Amino acid sequence: MADLIRLLPDHVANQIAAGEVVQRPASVVKELLENSVDAQASHIILVLKDAGRTLIQVTDDGLGMSPADARSAFERHATSKIRLADDLATIRTKGFRGEALASIAAIAQVELRTRERDQELGTRILIEGSRIKVTEPTACSPGTTIAVRSLFYNVPARRQFLKSDGVEMKHILDEFHRLAIAHPDLSFQLVHNDHEEYNMSTGSERQRIVQLYGRKYDERLVPVEEATDLMEVTGFVGKPEFAKRSRGEQYFFVNRRFIRSSYLDHAVRKAYDELVSRDNYPSWFLFIELDPAHIDINIHPTKTEIKFRDDRTVYAIVHAAVRRALGRFNIVPSLDFEPEPAILAAFGGDRPQAISPAVPAWRPNDLGAFTAPPRPSPAGWQQLFALQSDEGRDTETLTESDEATRIMPSREHAGTPGERPVFQLHGTYIMAQLRSGFMVVDQQRAHERILYERNLKLLERGVGTSQTELFPRHVELSAADLAMVEDVLPELRSMGFDLELFGGRTVQVNGMPAEAAEEDPTKLLEQLLEQLKHEKGDLRNERHHVLARGMAHSMAIRSGRVLATSEMHDLIDRLFACEMPYHTPGGKPTLITYGLDDLNKRFER
Ligand code: ADP
Ligand code: MG
Repeated sequence: MADLIRLLPDHVANQIAAGEVVQRPASVVKELLENSVDAQASHIILVLKDAGRTLIQVTDDGLGMSPADARSAFERHATSKIRLADDLATIRTKGFRGEALASIAAIAQVELRTRERDQELGTRILIEGSRIKVTEPTACSPGTTIAVRSLFYNVPARRQFLKSDGVEMKHILDEFHRLAIAHPDLSFQLVHNDHEEYNMSTGSERQRIVQLYGRKYDERLVPVEEATDLMEVTGFVGKPEFAKRSRGEQYFFVNRRFIRSSYLDHAVRKAYDELVSRDNYPSWFLFIELDPAHIDINIHPTKTEIKFRDDRTVYAIVHAAVRRALGRFNIVPSLDFEPEPAILAAFGGDRPQAISPAVPAWRPNDLGAFTAPPRPSPAGWQQLFALQSDEGRDTETLTESDEATRIMPSREHAGTPGERPVFQLHGTYIMAQLRSGFMVVDQQRAHERILYERNLKLLERGVGTSQTELFPRHVELSAADLAMVEDVLPELRSMGFDLELFGGRTVQVNGMPAEAAEEDPTKLLEQLLEQLKHEKGDLRNERHHVLARGMAHSMAIRSGRVLATSEMHDLIDRLFACEMPYHTPGGKPTLITYGLDDLNKRFER
């Protein structure tokens, strides 16, 4: 019997291998652009005809290749980027498999012109279906130009498989954007069918995003900056109000390489939990830098998926970084409480004083211990907002600038009521003056946010303090409600309910959470149980969240409650000491700001 096994001819083997690397014109664009970046180019030009079908050409001013390297570049597994398997642990380049040029040359007509900087002459190579047609010295500028013509000319099935020019162009732009965002220190040009689509000079990451997506993006971005021993996360996330129905711009880069990760997507989405509804997508541009030894990028030929050695930590850091960024920079006008005597005069001539001694139930100072998380500190938030309007500038220089010190009231002044005019509207809203306008705080919602974060902390610690009742009271519950109370008894205790199961369906209330606005324990307990029933569908591991939220909702001061000036100040300070001050745990705004500009406009000034 004749032998059946034969080795495939090289060009056929190459074609098969090519299928993995080159699925469509966009794959070629990606590989060529990455090679230019790896070659330390500073300017890269991409020229396309018919969405890459007819021509994809990349020109760079990078290192170029020697004549010998130019020839071996097209061989499979030919790479200048790693020598040993161990090198993978320190890899910083985009490429390392040495497959791209060989694959592209297997299924297209490729022309290479390349010249090293210190050489007079360059090399020109024509290669078609893996066969070298021409090798010759040529005069060209330093760097490399690779032109890929008639993609898939010898693989008709693939060629037919291509989508419309519009669709293919969209894929190409995706690749182009990814690389352009990762490398704002390089200039890029894109010409399609003789029309210049982009011409981007070098700049900051923010500037690059604006170059790609338009001016309007400038005000939508919130800077992210977090450094730990393991890694660094920088970049931007979109303000929640600009989240879109359709998936827009969501970019993760690890050591400047674009990656996909549904795991990290989740970490970011989770940070927006209360801010963006589930069917809207915020945008993000996040750069993770970490030691290459902590990642494995070799799991997919196109290398958009990677493995983190310690993925849970990476998740936690990304989540925290975004969360913190959103908490700090979420609103537009800069907030501060500089005194404005003219306005004070308008409200009664003198500095407003605490006018209402009869506000017994709400005891803002009882919880002092829980109201100062590490940052932003209540004393520091004005400064945060002062900085916020100047996001583009270097934070460090700004902190020290005269402007920042002028905006920041001194600590003592910050505590003096008269220095920061506030007043209550309709027993519901607190108005406070800002340098650039004013803000209106919804007192009930603000308090809800404060209590929610406090409750969460109490639940984490597992020990609560309660205000002991003079006379323990008995509350009669339904069987279902009693079962629910039993279920969450430890948590209720953490949050300050001192409860005992009295026998039958009676619960004895010995003490109440210190800040309970509703003084009647029966009512408070009932309200809370009602809340919990609503939230029942939630996951079990969100139990703390649900309880803290339900409790905050039941305990918050209501609209209609008259507040003393000191209480208003206290409420605002504590609100801004929260991790996420601008929304209730349910996602509703806690405050609105108005700019002087808006007023001036309405008065037609
Ligand atoms: P890889 O990028 O994985 O090394 P490629 O097939 O993409 O494999 O490229 C093969 C080699 O050709 C690279 O290692 C590099 O030495 C060289 N090369 C490719 N493109 C360029 C370029 N634009 N400038 C300089 N050298 C290049
Ligand atoms: Mg490459």
